[in-house]
Amino acid sequence: MLDDEGEDLAAALGSARHVVILTGAGISTESGIPDFRGPNGVWTKDPGAEKTASLEHYLGDRDVRVRAWQTRLSSPMWQAEPNAGHRALVDLEALVAFDLLVTQNIDGLHLQAGTSPDKLVEIHGTVHEAECLDCGFRGPMHETLARVEAGEADPACLGCGGILKSATISFGQNLVEADLLRAQRAALASDVFLALGSSLGVYPAAALPEIAVRNGARLAVLNAQPTPFDGIAHWISRRPLGHVLPELVDRMGARVGNNRPLH
Ligand code: NAD
Ligand code: ZN
Repeated sequence: MLDDEGEDLAAALGSARHVVILTGAGISTESGIPDFRGPNGVWTKDPGAEKTASLEHYLGDRDVRVRAWQTRLSSPMWQAEPNAGHRALVDLEALVAFDLLVTQNIDGLHLQAGTSPDKLVEIHGTVHEAECLDCGFRGPMHETLARVEAGEADPACLGCGGILKSATISFGQNLVEADLLRAQRAALASDVFLALGSSLGVYPAAALPEIAVRNGARLAVLNAQPTPFDGIAHWISRRPLGHVLPELVDRMGARVGNNRPLH
């Protein structure tokens, strides 16, 4: 994004009354968590992995579950820390009329950075909890991972014996209706919508920017690679979010400073 465009976006954010933000895996790559479809993405490198990400495979094949638990055990998510991009969004909360942050990420890094829990929708769930697909039990993920480490290759629900999974939305699994409705309502009411670090290819989350634009919002797409929604975006940046978001916050801060009455 050029300087002028950055200023223009900062000005638009400053006068917006309903700012809504959507984030994807791209905001967490700088924390060491690979995305799926970027150049170093998990699925870019191993296209077969996408197939086994479905609920059907997980339920139907014990081997898929055993592999999934081993993958969870060695996930970079347990060590990851929020980066400058996540932190900038926390700062932004105080600087703009911010309604909602909808994240497709399951890594919990927005919460860890300090985003207000009541302004956050983790629309694809969280890896920090395990969930029973039969009785709905939920508990801390580290407790189930400890059982895997102790030798249970496919740990069953301690309450009902059912199949456990991370509390995330797999392909073939419905989103939580209340979360989706809240995200859609916020997108409808937004006047500036930021889509950050998402290839905008996974529905229904990817429909949010379109809902926003159709109802009069201006859209910023800040993403390293082109997305299907670039054509309707008012601002586009391909630069790393860990740089571009703190810059935006600096510009916003300077604007607030400029508008302060002189004593
Ligand atoms: P995606 O992998 O489809 O797209 C990520 C996009 O971010 C890519 O287009 C890439 O070019 C861009 N990107 C990567 N690093 C960037 C950076 N530093 N600055 C700017 N742009 C950058 O991700 P998605 O759209 O979120 O969809 C993937 C799905 O997989 C999501 O639904 C999510 O649930 C899940 N996922 C989550 C995580 C996580 O929680 N961190 C990681 C991988 C996948
Ligand atoms: Zn159960």
